[in-house]
Parts: sequence; structure tokens; C-alpha cells
Amino acid sequence: MSLAPLVIGPAGAAQRRAIAKAITLLESTRADHRAQADQLLTELLPHTGKSFRLGISGVPGVGKSTFIEALGLCLIAQGHRVAVLTIDPSSTVSGGSILGDKTRMEQLSVHPQAYIRPSPSGGTLGGVAEKTREAMLVCEAAGYDVVIIETVGVGQSETAVAGMTDMFVLMQLPNAGDDLQAIKKGVMELADLVVINKADIDADAATRAQAQITSALRLFTQQGRERGGWTPQVVQLSALKQVGVDAFWQAVSKFREVRTSEGRLQQRRQHQALAWMHERIEAGLKQAFRSHPQVRALLPQLTADVEQGRLPASTAARQLLAAWHPNTP
Ligand code: GDP
Repeated sequence: MSLAPLVIGPAGAAQRRAIAKAITLLESTRADHRAQADQLLTELLPHTGKSFRLGISGVPGVGKSTFIEALGLCLIAQGHRVAVLTIDPSSTVSGGSILGDKTRMEQLSVHPQAYIRPSPSGGTLGGVAEKTREAMLVCEAAGYDVVIIETVGVGQSETAVAGMTDMFVLMQLPNAGDDLQAIKKGVMELADLVVINKADIDADAATRAQAQITSALRLFTQQGRERGGWTPQVVQLSALKQVGVDAFWQAVSKFREVRTSEGRLQQRRQHQALAWMHERIEAGLKQAFRSHPQVRALLPQLTADVEQGRLPASTAARQLLAAWHPNTP
């Protein structure tokens, strides 16, 4: 029997079980499971798209889980249902976890109006991101109207999260230097909103950081990056003392209003869905190429030939591509 009616059905224990089963199905690597998962997603698709998709990133220790717990509880008190999904880039490399080792979001994780799912483990970042993107659709179909996707500031995971959410929030510490790192890595450019957390520890430092990051963001805007009617903002916050959480949500709501009124929210989603399709096609092609028996048979010899200077790299590449598919240009 299809899980779809239970996922989109009334909230409660049966729905939670159905969501968990659906996500487990999506995360399975078995071919028959994948076929079922594709069928399920197609059935759920008309019920998706009604949530606000919020990406949150920051280095370990910046206060993400403290903040998401405070924000989530605050939103639930306002009548929202909140799903939190995680992309943990370390799980794709080592099978370990930066995000999952401790008990996180103690109150939110047991709240009936919240659904929290840790990062899928193993595989490439692209694979993990795909599963998370699909899990987000399941949560949306189940009526969670705020979906938070959390990641840590490592590798390309921030780009992946910014590429699947309506708004990307970067959390920073108030000390100098943290912002420089983010600027260097190009993450600051992705941010629609920057949160300076732990403002309770040193108010002056937080204010200095706010001014610095605001001017850095202005530079990006001047350089012509399309922000779609929105000037990225910087807010101060104390997740621990729960100061500034309301102001944060007001900024998010303002962003949403501006983007929705100009139709840009929908545009961003369409663009993301297409970019995603192409990304997945490329990943699928690479996988098919690498696992092709002819390619596998030829690769060691051609690799040695290129290494030893016996064969131009481009010729070797053409031979391998031709072995995979004779019509490859
Ligand atoms: P994460 O690794 O980004 O999820 O960070 P956590 O939420 O686990 O927070 C790391 C540590 O910082 C914990 O000990 C928190 O209690 C503390 N923390 C989080 N937010 C604040 C804050 O606003 N002010 C202060 N003083 N400490 C905070």
C-alpha cells in the first residue's frame, strides 16, 4: 500500500510513522526501493511547496541547535509545525558526525508539532543533499509549514543548502576573523541574513561584527549580485538567553513577503529544481561511466599511459568515453 495517504493524512502518531518510513525508503540504496520512492514522491508532489524553507549554517559551536530549538518552540507557540533536517558533510567522508554526537534540541525533538531528522549518512555530498531535498518534500506534504535545513560550515554543504532553501541564514560568532573566513570561502555571498549569535557574551564585539559584516555585504550588493529586491541584513541574537529570536523571525517574514510579492520565491524554487535535475543527471552520468565494464577494464592501462607521458590526457579521455558510449563526441 502506498504511504502517500498516511503522509498527507491527519497529524499524529500514524503520520509520524509514515514520514519515518517514507524517508527510510528514500534513503535506501536498493533499486526496488528507489522505484517505490520515486512513485511516492510523484504522489506527494502536488501536496508540496507550501512551507517556508529556511537554511541555517554556521561552524560547530556557534549555537545552531540552541537557536533552532528556541526558534522552533517559538514558532510552534504561534501555531506552526516545524521540521528540522540536517546535512552533515562529515558523515559523507568518515561516516562520523559533527552534528549528531550529542543530544540536540531536547525539547523540540520530543514536541508533537516538530519533526527532527538527522543527516543521512554515507555517500557523496550530492547524494546526501538529494535525500535531504526529498525528505523536505515529504515533510511539506505532511503539513510542516516551516522546514529548517541545518548544516555546518564545512566543504560545499552550505552551497547545497542554499540551493534547496528559500532563504539562507549564516550564523556567526561575534569575534573578528570569523566573518573573514566566511567571506574568503564565498559563503557570505550566499547569505540572505547573517545572525551574530552569543551577543550576550560581549555586546561591543557583537556590534562591531554587525557593522563589519554589514559593510562586507554591501560590497557584494554593489558588485551587482542579484539579491532580488532584498538587501541582506545582519541581526544580533542570543540563542541561549532567547533574546532577538522574535526580531529574527520578523526579518525572515519580511524577506518572505518581499520575495513572494514579486514572484521571486517561486522563481528561485523553479531555478533550484532545474539546477537540481541537471546536477543529478551529471552525477548519474559519472556514476554510469565509472561503473561501465569497458571503462573499468581500460582505465588502469590508460591511467598509466597518461602518467608515463605515453598518451595525451585528452586522447585517453576520448578513448574512455568512446568505450563507454561509441557516439560520445
Ligand atoms: P552548534 O554546534 O552550532 O549546534 O552549537 P550549540 O547550540 O550546541 O551551542 C554550543 C555552545 O554554545 C553550547 O554550550 C550553548 O549553550 C552555547 N550557546 C549557544 N548559544 C549561545 C548564546 O547565545 N550565548 C551564549 N553565551 N552561549 C550560547
